[in-house]
Amino acid sequence: MTEGASRDTYGGYRARLVEQLRAQGIRDLAVLRAFAATPRHLFVPEAVRHRAYEDAALPIGVGQTISQPFTQARYLEALGLSGRERVLEIGTGSGYQTALLAALADQVFTIERMRPLAEAAQAALRAAGITNVSVLVGDGTLGWSAYAPYHAILVAAGGPEIPPPLAEQLASGGRMVIPLGAKGAQTLTLVRRTAEGIRTSPIGEARFVPLVGEHGFDA
Ligand code: SAH
Repeated sequence: MTEGASRDTYGGYRARLVEQLRAQGIRDLAVLRAFAATPRHLFVPEAVRHRAYEDAALPIGVGQTISQPFTQARYLEALGLSGRERVLEIGTGSGYQTALLAALADQVFTIERMRPLAEAAQAALRAAGITNVSVLVGDGTLGWSAYAPYHAILVAAGGPEIPPPLAEQLASGGRMVIPLGAKGAQTLTLVRRTAEGIRTSPIGEARFVPLVGEHGFDA
């Protein structure tokens, strides 16, 4: 028997995950609603599907992980999306965070450097019935200039600095979240483009896989 979005037996687990996020302080109703509506089990490999609704990071293959839902929720809260935005995501990974963004914004453009992950994410997004996402295989530290500027940019891998192309492709008044620091220990950082220029403020500590690329770490 196949398990698609139409045969969803995971609703109870998903509701429990939403309760956990709320108990940990996530208050943004749109964010909680996105978690309640997004089938995480479609985005994790078969081997860890029974753990799909744990508030934990999980392996998705080729040494990469799907981030912990609480971390993703904090990220999404910081972006403060209204539903009308064009969003750029760097590090598609499993595509789960992409799906959450697709529920919270108008259009999502996402870049993943590893082709097998990008292809699996695209298949999962299709299985979940999500249509407002475009996936590109490439180096996300260069951004995606064809659709710039973006009202929000979410970087799901940790880099040493804000990649200059991403700062350039952020719309005036736009927000970016990016983990900045050394490999293995970063500070989740909120970046805003204001009339006076780029402003950064720390959100909290984080541990993300390295951002690898021209304006990131070497492979
Ligand atoms: N948010 C994702 C988790 C992403 S893990 C999820 O929900 O599953 C970070 C991802 O960033 C990995 O898949 C890694 O391959 C990718 N990545 C690292 N550097 C990148 C770059 N320069 N451009 C695009 N993707 C990159």
